[in-house]
Amino acid sequence: MANFSYSKPLIIILLGPPGVGKGTIAVALEKKLNIPHISTGDLFRENLKNKTFFGEKAKNYMEKGLLVPDELVEEMLYKRLKKEDCNKGFILDGFPRNIPQAQYFAKIIKNKKITVINLEVKKNILIERITGRLVCKKCQATFHKTFYPPKKEGICDLCQGELYQRNDDKVEVVNKRLLEYENKTKPLIEFYKKNSNFYSVDGSFDKEKILKDILSKIKQIEFK
Ligand SMILES: [Zn+2]
Repeated sequence: MANFSYSKPLIIILLGPPGVGKGTIAVALEKKLNIPHISTGDLFRENLKNKTFFGEKAKNYMEKGLLVPDELVEEMLYKRLKKEDCNKGFILDGFPRNIPQAQYFAKIIKNKKITVINLEVKKNILIERITGRLVCKKCQATFHKTFYPPKKEGICDLCQGELYQRNDDKVEVVNKRLLEYENKTKPLIEFYKKNSNFYSVDGSFDKEKILKDILSKIKQIEFK
């Protein structure tokens, strides 16, 4: 793939429901566009692991069974975005999750132009994808009941470990997560239709096709 002559910085936000594959796509895009992929989930785990100021603060909330407040996530992200590798752009995954976070983000990037890629997948397909996921207890490899079944039922192909379904992937939990997404994150679509280069991409295809679609949208930016 040739280099893109987009105007920098290229600030990309990946939107889409849980289970749509944002993480996988973001990692692939990072390589293609040569800008860092910043996942608030990863950032969070990193800060907890390294016992940073933010990590310790977040831990306090979590130990009390409280939600980590928006401001803390925002501060953590702000610090990350100030690093030099973000100068030519970055790909955000997991942020913003709601309108106030989107407003905060617009402020810290000083209203620079944002490109939003909205990955769309029908709800029934999402549920099938998530609830069919199987994870190895020993090596964490993932399989899928329908799309990527292990050779022997319930057993990991790689290490013969036992496969199980994560709690997060059970139907009741998935429905709850999707509902939360509908309520809080979906309004972002309307917000960004007005405030960004907004593109919807069909997320029900395989990774290569989705990537190709996204890159063709990004190429259009320079012609606007
Ligand atoms: Zn295994």
